[in-house]
Amino acid sequence: MSNIKKLARKTVQALTPYLSARRIGGNGDVWLNANEAPDCSIYQLDSSKLHRYPEFQPPQILNAYAAYAKLNADQVLTTRGADESIEILIRTFCEPNLDSILICPPTYGMYAISAETCGVAIEEVQLQANFDVDYEAVKKTVLESDGKIKIVFLCAPNNPTGNMLDKNKLADLLTATVGKALIVADEAYIEFCPELSQTDLIIDHENLVITRTLSKAFALASIRCGFTLAQTSVIEMMSKVIAPYPVPAPVAQIAEQALSADGLEVMRDRVVVLNNNRHVLANALTKIDCVVDIFPTTGNFLLVRFKDSAKVFKAFADDGIIMRDFANKPRLENCVRITIGNSDEMNRTLNTLNSL
Ligand SMILES: *Cc1c(COP(=O)(O)O)cnc(C)c1O
Repeated sequence: MSNIKKLARKTVQALTPYLSARRIGGNGDVWLNANEAPDCSIYQLDSSKLHRYPEFQPPQILNAYAAYAKLNADQVLTTRGADESIEILIRTFCEPNLDSILICPPTYGMYAISAETCGVAIEEVQLQANFDVDYEAVKKTVLESDGKIKIVFLCAPNNPTGNMLDKNKLADLLTATVGKALIVADEAYIEFCPELSQTDLIIDHENLVITRTLSKAFALASIRCGFTLAQTSVIEMMSKVIAPYPVPAPVAQIAEQALSADGLEVMRDRVVVLNNNRHVLANALTKIDCVVDIFPTTGNFLLVRFKDSAKVFKAFADDGIIMRDFANKPRLENCVRITIGNSDEMNRTLNTLNSL
């Protein structure tokens, strides 16, 4: 082992970093591997105050996001992407080498990675056969953990399976675990199905936390801007842990424009187009021979099981289409996640599959 590796914390020595779509990379011109939006808007930047530190939490973004989410500004925290919110939650609520988080695989990979880097253990309750959350098992595991499980991460629409949460069962779980654990609902894709958001439960449940992002439906993955929604008591606690200047001023300027009335209209128009493209793609896939299963989803992606995903993945790569391979993940054998792109990108995808 190198000297530097020996110096590092044991957990970091052993850690396999999150393989983001960007780190995996790929060659081609159709990027359907990171659930990014296919189009980009134009924004104005004012550089006259770049020599000043930004506000801790720029009020114009908090107010705009609070209005959009129908909450108060003191129930909103803005972070460097939703990923930073996940990490701050763990650093705020989990004691290293003592507490745990609970995740429901197969799900988004960053919950486990953030816990690992913080020295926090990971408990798993598998999603059910249809990939819905097993609420009874989650409740039982939290209640029998002796107060060790401090955070449950649920994801809806779940990345990559697309499943949503059941509001009544979530409310029951929140009530059963109050004072013991936070229940986090990761709503990174909720703009694609806004009627299924759980924000209305925040007022009655102090242990509910919702994470959001501008990276997906708002088409702003590059600016790294996310949000945490919860009762003020949770936001205040996280504010003790977050960096002193977490939101760069140019990010705040762009976010404010994206959250303006015009910005919201552009986002909602994009959602209509992408949801329609998803229906068209899903329909077309049902007629393709190498497709075994299409998992129902409400996000800007489709998880598809093929007869031989390695062959399909290679055919995409040969045609310059970059997809996200899930075939080596437990329970996702032969599965590929396809980001919903513009109609050209969807046609290219179908052309490749039809040529097999
Ligand atoms: C993309 C994604 C995130 C990360 O969002 P950022 O704001 O870009 O950090 C969080 N959760 C899920 C489920 C995601 O798919």
